[in-house]
Amino acid sequence: MAGSQGRQSGRQSGARSLLARAADVVWPPRSLLSDAIVDRPGAIDAAHWARLQFLGPPWCAACGFPFATVEAPDALCGACTAAPPPYASARAPLAYDDESRRLVLDLKRSGRRDGLRVFAGWMAEAGAAMLAEADLLVPAPLHWTRLLERRFNQSAWLAQAVGARAGMPVLVDALVRRRRRRSQHGLTASQRRRNVAGVYRIGPGKAPAVAGRIVLLVDDVFTTGATAEACTRALLRAKARKVHVLTLARVVRPVDVVI
Ligand SMILES: [Zn+2]
Repeated sequence: MAGSQGRQSGRQSGARSLLARAADVVWPPRSLLSDAIVDRPGAIDAAHWARLQFLGPPWCAACGFPFATVEAPDALCGACTAAPPPYASARAPLAYDDESRRLVLDLKRSGRRDGLRVFAGWMAEAGAAMLAEADLLVPAPLHWTRLLERRFNQSAWLAQAVGARAGMPVLVDALVRRRRRRSQHGLTASQRRRNVAGVYRIGPGKAPAVAGRIVLLVDDVFTTGATAEACTRALLRAKARKVHVLTLARVVRPVDVVI
């Protein structure tokens, strides 16, 4: 039985890859950041690749803010020293700038999915330590009316891509958004915090799946941390043991970037 299922799925995946190759002839894969033709879906042409700003240590042990000089691995930035965040750590592989902004907007506004496997690889590397101890992944939620308009939640796509890569469960509806918030666009950090305070709660019947677990919250961009903190608080209220935050990109100089 298992053998016949194996052969059948082998034939199906063979048929799928044949279709994928046929599609490539008609629509060759394009770079995620230009119209340049690339060798595989999800690739980025060399000129744009060189402009992406990847993040790595040394960075704040809590929020992942990159340090300009070498620091101890447990060093905290000024903001986290003054007010420790509720999450254990936040990491992102990319600085949010003009280049990565296009990746995020293509994913979030246009629903472009061909970069997801590549993004998941970057995120898994930046978040390797948190993935090693997490029990499950939870995406930051959209309000249901926005989900109806857009028909997808880009954070859920990212969580599923990272989960598939790491072989970890993803609880897509663990968090829900209680009310549709005002857009965060153009708000200061403290305005963003007020805007999302109390907006998130645990989805109906989902608390037992979260209680006692180490949760990895997944979102597209870490801007001021307001959304990450509000989601973390909702998960901790449901007795999550610990929460980590993993995003595709992170604002490094908030004054430079308008989202
Ligand atoms: Zn920090």
